[in-house]
Amino acid sequence: MKCMICKHGETFDGFTTVTLEKNGTTIVFQKVPALVCDKCGEKYVKGDVTSGLLKKAKEIMLGGVKVDIREYQLNVA
Ligand SMILES: [Zn+2]
Repeated sequence: MKCMICKHGETFDGFTTVTLEKNGTTIVFQKVPALVCDKCGEKYVKGDVTSGLLKKAKEIMLGGVKVDIREYQLNVA
């Protein structure tokens, strides 16, 4: 698709890192599948991927950890 930020670049399948912070807890997901703009580098994470991450983050926070860094897996959602 065309990039919505710079309006010139084309996006390609890549990966990004998503950081979620809430109530003093920081959770980092690495290797999250995303569309990346080849011009400005803007990253687009799909809505279902984001909701999967939020759900997983909630579970992790219930465990009481303050910092958690993990790789995204397809079975997260
Ligand atoms: Zn762009």
